[in-house]
Amino acid sequence: MRPWEANIRRVAPYVPGEQPKGEKLIKLNTNENPYPPAPGVREAMERMDCDWFRKYPDPAATVLIKALSKAYEADEERIFVGVGSDDVIAVAFMTFFNSHKPILFPDVSYSFYKVWADLFKIPYETPALDMEFRIKKEDYYRENGGIIFPNPNAPTGLLMPLSEAEDIIAHNQESVVIVDEAYIDFGGESAIRLTEKYENLLVVQTFSKSRSMAGMRIGCAFGHPELIRRLNDVKYSYNSYTMNIPSLVLGAKALEDERYFMDTLKKIRCTRETAKGWLKELGFTFPDSMANFIFASHRERRAEEIYMALREQNIFVRYFKQPRIDNYLRITIGTDEEMEKLYRFLKEYL
Ligand SMILES: *Cc1c(COP(=O)(O)O)cnc(C)c1O
Repeated sequence: MRPWEANIRRVAPYVPGEQPKGEKLIKLNTNENPYPPAPGVREAMERMDCDWFRKYPDPAATVLIKALSKAYEADEERIFVGVGSDDVIAVAFMTFFNSHKPILFPDVSYSFYKVWADLFKIPYETPALDMEFRIKKEDYYRENGGIIFPNPNAPTGLLMPLSEAEDIIAHNQESVVIVDEAYIDFGGESAIRLTEKYENLLVVQTFSKSRSMAGMRIGCAFGHPELIRRLNDVKYSYNSYTMNIPSLVLGAKALEDERYFMDTLKKIRCTRETAKGWLKELGFTFPDSMANFIFASHRERRAEEIYMALREQNIFVRYFKQPRIDNYLRITIGTDEEMEKLYRFLKEYL
């Protein structure tokens, strides 16, 4: 070993879903939205001037914070933004999870949590979901250095009723609790209002899924002004200009069209419920998803085998070769047309 190698930080990185290139492929593997961003986003993009890019962006992200404040009826001082919710959550781990006690998150959950915990050298424990993949709230009623869970959970799609999420928060007022609401718009009630009741609660959301802007990298968090101040202190100690000008301008624009947002969500929910029907008919079982994906297992055929067969057809879904979930496929809800093609192939194949 070369001497300098002893001091290298060694980490096992998060593996994102692949981004295959091509015309005719059906991409149902990374929970992107199949519909374009709100029409106002395109118009705003066409009005952007290249000369804007000469200067640094506003480090306080004021236009975006103001737009979020209006859309979510939350004071500006209660909002933090970042480069996707991945950035927001990473900064939150650095800011809030500095105890010697372990942080807690579910064993089957967003696999990035473990990567950040390792990167920042945070001890952690992962209470197991029950046999039906539900989070057992009692597992979180013990000493900890912080808690994070997605609601709805990923990759299961299961929604925990807000009252149960509140139970976890209420039992843990000595540490920071983060609720990752990447998929909440597809069928759940947000915990944002609870941040007014619990000073230790941070609710994280993203523009990547429900707002069709994964490529823009926009995430946000809502919480008590003291939490937000601390997040900003860490952000400004690390990289002041995280968000670029197009993200700030176009993100703010996306929030203006509530009608388009609601229509898109409705279409995806409708396609999802239809897909549940035919998946069942084809012999799949799955938790009752409230997200924009379905986490399905087939009664007879191995998930990995189906995954490979779909790939051959240029249909991409996500397969995780991990304990407990290695016989499941996570299928993103696409357009009706895409789902119809998936159905037709599966029907033939099975
Ligand atoms: C997609 C996702 C994120 C990250 O999304 P960004 O694109 O970084 O905003 C965070 N948490 C969960 C559970 C997700 O599924």
